[in-house]
Amino acid sequence: MIVVGAGPGGATTAWKSAEAGLRVLLLDRAASFPRYKPCGGGIPASLADHVSGFESPDSFSDLSVTHLRHSWKGKDHVHAEMTTGSGKPAEVWMVQRPRFDAWLVERATKAGATVRSGVKVSDVSIEEDSVTVSTVDGESFTAKHVIGADGAKGIVGARVGLRLGKRWGIAREAEIPFHDGAEDNRIHPGLQPHTAYLDYGSVQNGYAWIFPKRGFLSVGAGMLLPKKPAPSEENNVGQILRRAIDTMLQSVGMTFPEGMDAPKIWGHPIPFWTGAEPLATADGRVLLVGDAAGVVQPMFGEGIQYAIRTGDVAAECLVSGTAGAYTDRVRALFADEFDAALRIGKIFYRTPYLSYKLGVKNPAGTKLVGRLMAGEASLHDLESRIYERLKNPLKLGK
Ligand SMILES: Cc1cc2nc3c(=O)[nH]c(=O)nc-3n(C[C@H](O)[C@H](O)[C@H](O)COP(=O)(O)OP(=O)(O)OC[C@H]3O[C@@H](n4cnc5c(N)ncnc54)[C@H](O)[C@@H]3O)c2cc1C
Repeated sequence: MIVVGAGPGGATTAWKSAEAGLRVLLLDRAASFPRYKPCGGGIPASLADHVSGFESPDSFSDLSVTHLRHSWKGKDHVHAEMTTGSGKPAEVWMVQRPRFDAWLVERATKAGATVRSGVKVSDVSIEEDSVTVSTVDGESFTAKHVIGADGAKGIVGARVGLRLGKRWGIAREAEIPFHDGAEDNRIHPGLQPHTAYLDYGSVQNGYAWIFPKRGFLSVGAGMLLPKKPAPSEENNVGQILRRAIDTMLQSVGMTFPEGMDAPKIWGHPIPFWTGAEPLATADGRVLLVGDAAGVVQPMFGEGIQYAIRTGDVAAECLVSGTAGAYTDRVRALFADEFDAALRIGKIFYRTPYLSYKLGVKNPAGTKLVGRLMAGEASLHDLESRIYERLKNPLKLGK
């Protein structure tokens, strides 16, 4: 099989398929790994309950956060611990994508996959009993199956008639290094320990964040638009997101580091879950995983764990010869949750201030978020809670 794209989705597919004995060629256009990918790098530790091999986070993650600090336009903040139902801390890993993705690619290599970087795929054609991918450099590779793991703007799906009506949100991100005279791998001294920061209100249909890493902060903002913005809108969105990032930094008493060039801000699309489309060709020869399949939680734009989990499912389907069941298996796992997230997102982003006051700032709300991160509660539970609160906004949560 050929996997196009060595992000979390493709590297996991390659790793799990090779481990089960399949011959795997993993291609990526990046010149080499580690390579940069704009991303906050927050992954709920509950991923380890779904996919084996993630039991030792020290080998791929900088640190874990157990607290969230929410704010409204940089003010009116609340600092809340995320706990499981049994009162233990619920952890979210903070990974640096270059390091994390390289770790996954190494897992695939160790399992026996052949990895080639610097290979940009430009076309895919399905023959009677095989699939051929061609590259911009004129090479071609043929296999029984191809996995499109080429991210939000991937071409594999489009070349075989999948995910044609893509829709995107958009996010911007800056990695801000800090040096306070201590070693480079310090946690930022001015921020609360074990805490990720989220700010609402400055971005319509979205939020801004600070995710701490060792030696730097991932700071960004995202707008989960239900359509692809026109280029003129995209410019405007870029300005709005930039201002939201500034507000977020000011709320913790920071600005872009003085005396340094303004850090590069990376813009990137976030695919939008639409639910109904097939994620594999009818003959089961081409399967899409991760962002290429639009498997991104539509309220928060969280996609790493879903890329990994769809990669794992794709590998299982190929190993067991059940590629035709892939779309149904992915839908069975995620459709209910993502559809609930879409409905919650509509309520939250249409009435953001009320939602912030009644939901986010409510201790019962943060308790539920902790249980969500721990994989103990579902977005359905959150949705029921929201309807309950809307019916009776004055009722105190427990
Ligand atoms: C600013 C921002 C912040 C985010 N923060 C978070 C977060 O905190 N937590 C979270 O869970 N999600 C987050 N996401 C979403 C997350 O980044 C994605 O869902 C995730 O990277 C999807 O993984 P993937 O493997 O499907 O695709 P990608 O990680 O995009 O990997 C695709 C790979 O395909 C390769 N490729 C592309 N085209 C070709 C081609 N033609 N030929 C060969 N190779 C190709 C690319 O080089 C790349 O390596 C964020 C997204 C953005 C934009």
